[in-house]
Amino acid sequence: MFCRFCGKPIKDKAVVCAGCGRPVEGPGSSSDPSQRWSFATLAILMAVTVFLPPIGLVFGFLGLRNPHRKTQAAVLLTVSVFMTLLMAAIILGL
Ligand SMILES: [Zn+2]
Repeated sequence: MFCRFCGKPIKDKAVVCAGCGRPVEGPGSSSDPSQRWSFATLAILMAVTVFLPPIGLVFGFLGLRNPHRKTQAAVLLTVSVFMTLLMAAIILGL
């Protein structure tokens, strides 16, 4: 096959073009099922990370008013704050 950047002939199993040094993408690399699965996992993880902390914060604060659930509420609140920081880190690209 040929490099799609510089057009030089390259070996089928080559990872990098010898002519220009750019990465060689195989014919079926864009429809790789494992890549799609990891994207779906990432999307679910993002949704959970974005939507769970506010819910946890609300239930944590509500639980703090109930003396019988103060411990659970404190744990929930701590986890939610941690998740919020994690979410902020992911969004800011840290
Ligand atoms: Zn090239």
